[in-house]
Amino acid sequence: MDNQKQMRVLVLDDDSFMLEFITHLLKELGVSEVLVAENGRSGLYVLAGQVADIDLLICDIEMPGMDGIEFLRNIADQNYRGKIALFSGVNADLLKAAERLAMARGLNIIGTLSKPVTMGAIAAMLEQISLSVPQVLDSDKTLQVLDVADIEHALASDHFGIYYQPKVSAVTGHVMGVECLTRWWHAQYGYVLPDNFISIAEQTGLINDFTRHVLRKSAEQLHVWLQQSLDLRISVNVSMENLDRFNLPELYEETIKKCGVPVERVTLEITESKLGKDFAQTLDILTRIRLKGFGLAIDDFGTGYSSMETLKHMPFTELKVDRLFAHGASNDLATRAILESSIKLGRSLNLNVVVEGIETEADYRLATELGCDEIQGYFIAKPMPADEFIEWLIAYEAMLDDF
Ligand code: C2E
Ligand code: CA
Ligand code: CA
Repeated sequence: MDNQKQMRVLVLDDDSFMLEFITHLLKELGVSEVLVAENGRSGLYVLAGQVADIDLLICDIEMPGMDGIEFLRNIADQNYRGKIALFSGVNADLLKAAERLAMARGLNIIGTLSKPVTMGAIAAMLEQISLSVPQVLDSDKTLQVLDVADIEHALASDHFGIYYQPKVSAVTGHVMGVECLTRWWHAQYGYVLPDNFISIAEQTGLINDFTRHVLRKSAEQLHVWLQQSLDLRISVNVSMENLDRFNLPELYEETIKKCGVPVERVTLEITESKLGKDFAQTLDILTRIRLKGFGLAIDDFGTGYSSMETLKHMPFTELKVDRLFAHGASNDLATRAILESSIKLGRSLNLNVVVEGIETEADYRLATELGCDEIQGYFIAKPMPADEFIEWLIAYEAMLDDF
């Protein structure tokens, strides 16, 4: 537990005995600093007063006055990015609902603890944090340090790399294609994930140059693979902010054709975030993107506005069920019900249904049984650089052949 010595934990509970008890457990486990707060308001106060990061926030969801849910809403509004564990004596379903709610607000929930809390449960949680401390830059720190000039520089100096995550057929198991996910190799911070820079690019208009850059690099890679007789397709993420110009279909078509690959092998994934006043323009652009031959996926289906209304109006060819409805579906009835009905819906609309975020064999089996077309997730493989992907592909297809 040596690496946990420098950890700072904040515990929120209205029960002073519980505070003392958990503080004791944490100290026993080697945590260097434990801060406590007896209600939501003082929790906010303690958080606001911190100059250094809190490594873990343990939050009771039942408290008088400002309850845990309200407290979490407040910190979500403030874009709190630290790790949070929820705990409560309420029944497991309610605790799960609170967890989902917090995740839906973008909070980084790493788990739940039921009362009575045991040393083992807390130790497991701390273990998880110390294991998950990555070489990846924390998003809260990144947001403060990365800006438009950094992104411009990275684009000009070719510091964005593409990682490829396989999508496999739910029927045959064979690799159908890859989703192209961007990574930033930053001289100072190392490996930076997209959640830390996409929104900056979107807010500043740089997203147009950025997306074309990613599209070009991904299509160049596809060209190499096709030359090697690998029957692959690529999926590239496109932001709603990209749909601000009517000639977008022509620009993307030109980018793809210059790389010498058929447009039909490229799917653009779109997360609907603001269906509304630009509806006609969005529909115009997406329809013409389809006319050019691109595939068009509705991404993160089931979350936000990526929902029925969007599906009804826009000319999609693929539906990607959000991982929120795939992860853990095999042991959660509500998740399973949503997964099942999303797959049915997609299939009845003749869409290619992809389930993403599959991390376990049980969820993989369930998704195939429920009749989706393709599966993507850590259970198959994580996103990888091109050379690693090819090594993986050869080994994976050889393993399939052995069956
Ligand atoms: P997304 O389009 O939903 O992409 C899937 C994300 O889920 C990826 O995160 C991927 O690494 C992760 N993932 C895949 N399988 C699993 C799994 O089994 N479990 C879990 N927990 N996660 C899994 P990543 O690469 O960090 O990207 C995050 C988001 O950033 C993407 O979500 C996409 O919306 C956006 N993004 C990434 N690259 C680009 C890009 O080039 N352009 C734009 N506009 N957005 C991008
Ligand atoms: Ca995507
Ligand atoms: Ca997605």
